[in-house]
Amino acid sequence: MDSLTQGKTKMLTEIEAKKLVKKAGVPVVDTRLAKTAREAAALGQEIGFPVVMKILSPDIIHKSDIGGVKVGLANKARLLKAYGEVMASVREKQPGARIEGVSVQKMAAPGVEIIIGMSKDPQFGPFLMFGLGGIWVEVLKDVSFRIVPVTRRDAAEMVREIKGFALLQGYRGQEAVDINIIESLIVKVSDFIEKNPQIKELDINPLIVYKDSAVAVDARVVLE
Ligand code: ADP
Ligand code: MG
Repeated sequence: MDSLTQGKTKMLTEIEAKKLVKKAGVPVVDTRLAKTAREAAALGQEIGFPVVMKILSPDIIHKSDIGGVKVGLANKARLLKAYGEVMASVREKQPGARIEGVSVQKMAAPGVEIIIGMSKDPQFGPFLMFGLGGIWVEVLKDVSFRIVPVTRRDAAEMVREIKGFALLQGYRGQEAVDINIIESLIVKVSDFIEKNPQIKELDINPLIVYKDSAVAVDARVVLE
């Protein structure tokens, strides 16, 4: 759910957005700010390789579209090289963007990527969107919607309504993921939205789900 930030709205950086998402009760991958390549390398050691590095800017909506995301950085040398590449690519592709530095974060294990999003309708107010990550949302528009407040029962319906539900139940040898956790996180986001009307848009994309846990690796929040 993209909309350009306009008027008096303010887009948070990924680190700020993840703080809010964590407050809502959603587990978030350990994510820290580095202002220089040296700081980034130190964080890589601290967090433990492999790590993920991303451009950190309040002006960039789709980080990977402009070469601003590097995953699976296995050691310090790779991380330093990635830092240079990210900065060069972002400066070329979005020269006006304010850059706060990069985020260095723990590399989450592969799982099923899902999206929980919130946007506001002028008539009905806030509503949540649920779907699987990647092409499922972007190309196939395989998503479900409910108006906030979303009950546990609504959440259970949202999850089962999408065509890709079978993928969550395990498909061709892939392990089934924890549907209960997904439902409970949808309800937590709904509760948080109700209590925080200053949030105009929120996207957890992706939330990676596993057989008995889930973790948000990216978040975007726009405040009124
Ligand atoms: P964008 O701003 O382009 O949405 P993301 O932060 O979502 O950037 O990163 C793009 C993709 O990289 C994600 O969809 C996910 O597959 C992968 N990714 C991002 N962060 C992590 C992480 N910490 N661990 C594992 N994979 C990640
Ligand atoms: Mg994302």
